Amino acid sequence: MRFPIFLAGLMMAGLLCTSGQAQTDHINPWTPVEVAPLPPIASLSDGFWLKGDLHLHSRHSKDSSNNSEAKIIAFAESVGMDYLCITDHDNHVQGDVAHNTWTDPEFKSNSVLLLYGAEWTTTRGHGNVFSARPYDHQRLYDVRDQRDIVIEAVKKELGIHLSANHPSGKDHFGFSYDLVDSIEVWNSAVWSKNANAIMIWDDMLSSGRKLTGRGGSDSHHGTPDSPELATKNTYQRQANYVGTPTTWVFAKERTLQSVVDALTNGRVAVSANPYAPRVEFYADLDQDGKMDMMMGDNAKATGKPVNFRIQLTGNTVVGASYTVHVVKDGNPFSTLQAIGGKTTAVEFTDTPKQPGRTYYRVEVEGPQTTYPQVPGSMALSGNMVGLSNPIYFNFDPNF
Ligand SMILES: [Zn+2]
Ligand SMILES: [Zn+2]
Repeated sequence: MRFPIFLAGLMMAGLLCTSGQAQTDHINPWTPVEVAPLPPIASLSDGFWLKGDLHLHSRHSKDSSNNSEAKIIAFAESVGMDYLCITDHDNHVQGDVAHNTWTDPEFKSNSVLLLYGAEWTTTRGHGNVFSARPYDHQRLYDVRDQRDIVIEAVKKELGIHLSANHPSGKDHFGFSYDLVDSIEVWNSAVWSKNANAIMIWDDMLSSGRKLTGRGGSDSHHGTPDSPELATKNTYQRQANYVGTPTTWVFAKERTLQSVVDALTNGRVAVSANPYAPRVEFYADLDQDGKMDMMMGDNAKATGKPVNFRIQLTGNTVVGASYTVHVVKDGNPFSTLQAIGGKTTAVEFTDTPKQPGRTYYRVEVEGPQTTYPQVPGSMALSGNMVGLSNPIYFNFDPNF
């Protein structure tokens, strides 16, 4: 009589449906519950906006040309970059970036913060590491073809920020996104090829993952020292180089660790180039006219309306029209027009869901700000001026 007892047990557990009886007593243990109190939001004024490029290849990558670290860093200094991460292909040095990119005597700057990192170049796709200090990259290289659960353990032990690179198309990121802290949503000056990366980002955000979007030029080629050193790729230098696009981070201090922390926390915006305006995105939770949170921040929804403010800071084209696309939970929500000038800002109001999660992010289109040092980049970026990271409501920090 073991069989009927087994069946009765299943029916009691709600796992079997008898004819005509709905499966009503199933309880999904993963159903979102009320989010516990969230940590207070960090200061909106106590920090620095720092700009940089998070994806660059020097001569230590075998597919690069005429691009010494000195050349990259001198250029970055000349256009006012605050930080860089030179991310050479680790497979070109069998994982030993520590004795190549980082020990190059040219790996130094008086004004640009140089993160430690590399492009983790694997059979299943590419990712960048960003670290404030040297770490044992060889260990991450060694596990590149292992199961994700093995890779995750090594990543945790190394204490690094891992980021998915150019996640769609060739060398797409064929790993779990649970391994990464950020995603490259804007790779190179060619904005148009990033549409699928944006789609993946929205899917990950919509599933409850608080994942920072960032940029990276992925530039490989520098200016030859003499004409005979030119390669078939030298032309790229005029169209895609340091800062196309530029990633802005709101860092508590002007330090390497603060840059990595800002990337992890999502106080990040991406602009077409270092001279293009920066998209700042704020929310006023109690409608008292004072902003309470910015992109990357996560607050409890109260069921009351929230005022949002999008501000273009920096060199807008005076009198020009900028189109602000607001995306809510992966879908177009609103389109606003801003006019370039001294303070270019627009606002909108909405009530985030309660209960449930909501996120808002913005993309801004308009005229390109001239980048004379990389003149071909403006045409490749088209109308894309900049994008924000999301403002989050009811996202579970322990997810
Ligand atoms: Zn790559
Ligand atoms: Zn690359």
